Amino acid sequence: MDEIDQLQVWHTSGPHGRGVRTLVARRAGEVIHHFTGVVGPDLKQHTLQVAPGRHIAETKVIGFLSHSCDPDCRLDMGRSELVALRDIAAGDLLTIDYAATEDVLFRQFACHCGAAACRHWITGRAEEPDEDGRTYLASLE
Ligand SMILES: [Zn+2]
Repeated sequence: MDEIDQLQVWHTSGPHGRGVRTLVARRAGEVIHHFTGVVGPDLKQHTLQVAPGRHIAETKVIGFLSHSCDPDCRLDMGRSELVALRDIAAGDLLTIDYAATEDVLFRQFACHCGAAACRHWITGRAEEPDEDGRTYLASLE
């Protein structure tokens, strides 16, 4: 089976509309997927930052990964790989931490991932919460 056939992009009720799940069990450290796409200067929905000012679009899988503050996967942008961070059961949703790769997000959003260390409002690693985020975070206090 090709690696792409072991992944399923599906519609979720989450803020991004789609998610990715693995159809087979994974081991921590396993390379789940080698991704390809078109790299350009534009930050768009479903793009991922591969280097400062460089964003990959038209990926078959990684553009649809959901965010978690305690993700089960990470992206290695140098090697173009999606890697399991821990053992993952067949059928589980694959998640990454958007702030691990993105300086700035296409759109900041409230997070309900349920992780003990959930940041509650997700931004890129080089930006502060926007006005909606500040309002949302203040409402949690
Ligand atoms: Zn979270």
